[in-house]
Amino acid sequence: MPISNHRSSVPVIVDEEKCIADKGCRVCIDVCPLDVLWINEDTGKAHMKYDECWYCMPCEADCPTDAVKVNIPYLLR
Ligand code: SF4
Ligand code: SF4
Repeated sequence: MPISNHRSSVPVIVDEEKCIADKGCRVCIDVCPLDVLWINEDTGKAHMKYDECWYCMPCEADCPTDAVKVNIPYLLR
């Protein structure tokens, strides 16, 4: 899987202001079937570590603070 170097270009964006991973939340990481979300060691917040996604949406739906935004490609809508 390709490692994502450019955060703004990946399909799943985490709002670091809202993310409470620094308080122990791991919901999005736990629900993702592809294990592509992880904690950014620099910020302590969740982010998309691998640029791979099924657009299955539980990460966005289950995040307790609405911090996750999945940008579904136009062709898949
Ligand atoms: S579920 Fe939301 S608050 Fe929890 S780690 Fe993921 S992005 Fe952060
Ligand atoms: S949409 Fe599905 S595959 Fe993509 S990051 Fe969220 S849980 Fe993982």
